[in-house]
Amino acid sequence: MKYDVVVIGGRVGGSTASLFASKNGLDVLMIEKRQEIGTPVQCAGGTFRSTFDTLEMQPSPKYVCAEIYGGIICSPDGNRVKLKGKEVGGYILERKAFDKHLAIESARAGTDVMVKTMVTDLIREDEKVCGVVAKHMGKTMEIKADLVIAADGVESQIAPLAGLNTQKTPYDLGSCAQYEMVGVDVDLHYIEFHLGENLAPGGYLWVFPKGEGVANVGVGVRNSPHHAYHYLQKFTSQLSATPVELNVGGVPLTGMVDPIYTDGFLVVGDAAGQVNALSGGGIHTTVECAKIAGEVAAESVERNDASASFLKRYEKLCRITVGKDLKKSLKYRRVFDKLRDDDFNVITKFLDGYDLESISKLSMMSLIKEHPHLLRLLKEIL
Ligand SMILES: Cc1cc2nc3c(=O)[nH]c(=O)nc-3n(C[C@H](O)[C@H](O)[C@H](O)COP(=O)(O)OP(=O)(O)OC[C@H]3O[C@@H](n4cnc5c(N)ncnc54)[C@H](O)[C@@H]3O)c2cc1C
Repeated sequence: MKYDVVVIGGRVGGSTASLFASKNGLDVLMIEKRQEIGTPVQCAGGTFRSTFDTLEMQPSPKYVCAEIYGGIICSPDGNRVKLKGKEVGGYILERKAFDKHLAIESARAGTDVMVKTMVTDLIREDEKVCGVVAKHMGKTMEIKADLVIAADGVESQIAPLAGLNTQKTPYDLGSCAQYEMVGVDVDLHYIEFHLGENLAPGGYLWVFPKGEGVANVGVGVRNSPHHAYHYLQKFTSQLSATPVELNVGGVPLTGMVDPIYTDGFLVVGDAAGQVNALSGGGIHTTVECAKIAGEVAAESVERNDASASFLKRYEKLCRITVGKDLKKSLKYRRVFDKLRDDDFNVITKFLDGYDLESISKLSMMSLIKEHPHLLRLLKEIL
C-alpha cells in the first residue's frame, strides 16, 4: 500500500489533518487503533465558536449540546461570579459524535479510514520516515507514505520513534477524572469552574452543561496527594445526581514540544503539547495546528519535498497561529500554581462585574493596591 500521507489517530487532530490534506487533493489514509472513532471519551467538550471557523464548518445540533455565553467562577469561600466575554463564548460538544462527524467529513473529502488498526512502528529509509507498520486483526502490514502525521494523543508512542522528544513525565501532566451526570443543577449557557486547594489541588473542578440536567462534572489536578478520581468522588457525593459515564485521562501542560517535525514526519495535537496550559483545553489549538499540518502536507507532496528543512514551516505557522497564546497560558499557569485559597477568594471578588476583555493591567493594579501581597504572585503577568 502507498499513500501520499498516513495519519495516525482518528480523533480531532487526526481527522482535521486528514480532512485538510484530502481537501487539498492528497491520497490520505487515517489509522485509528480503536474500533470506534471518538471512544472512550477523554474530554469535557468545551470549545470556542472560532473552532468552527477554522474547520470551515457550521456547528451542528448533531453534536452541539449547549451554546455557552460565559463562565461562572466559584471561589473556596462560596462566592460565584459570572464572567462574560468573547473569549469564553463557545459550545459544549458531545465528543463521541463530534469526532465521528469529523472523521465522516474527512472520509467524504476522500480520506481512507482504517479502524481497529494499531500503528506499531515507523518505516525509515536513510533516517527519513517513509511509512508505517500497522496491525489489524492479527495481520501486520507495511504502508508507505511520502509523509506521516502522528495525532496519537497524550500517550504518543509514535513521535519518539521518529526521534522527537514528546515523552511526558507525571509532572508535565494534568490528571483528570470526569462523570457525565444526570440531575445536575446548572445553567444551560454557563460553564462553572470551582477553585480550591482541597477541591482540586493544582487545577480546578468543572461543571459543563449538556442540557436537560445532564452535565460533565470533572476534576483536573496536578502534583496532588490523590488521583483526580478521589476529588471527583468527594465533590459528586454531595450532589443528588447520578453518573452515567466515567472518563479519565491526562492533559499535557508544559507547552508545545520543540521540534514538532522531522524528515517525512509531523506531530499534532496532544502528542505535540498543543494544549492551553492553564485551562487544559486542547480542541481549538489542535484543530488550528492540524489544519496547518494538512495544508503543509499538501505543499510538501506537491513539491516532492518532505525534508525537515521544508516541514519546518509547519512549526513556524503553528507558532504564529497559537504559539503566543500557548506561551501566555504557561505564564498564567505558573502564577495559578502559586495561588492559595485566600488569593482565589480576593481575585474572584475582583472579577465580579468585568467582561474578560475589559480587565486591564490598570484595573489589576487597583486589586494589588488593596492586596499588596498579590504583586509578588501576579508580577509575571502584569
Ligand atoms: C478529562 C478531560 C477533559 C478535557 N476537556 C476538554 C475541554 O473541555 N475542552 C478542550 O478543548 N479540551 C479538553 N481536553 C483536552 C482534549 O481532549 C485534547 O486536547 C484533544 O482531544 C486532543 O486531540 P488529539 O486528536 O490530539 O488526541 P486524542 O483525542 O487523544 O486522540 C488520539 C487518537 O489516537 C489514537 N491512537 C493512539 N495511538 C495510536 C496508534 N499507535 N495507532 C492508531 N491510533 C492510535 C487513539 O486511540 C485516539 O483515538 C480534555 C482532556 C481530558 C483528559
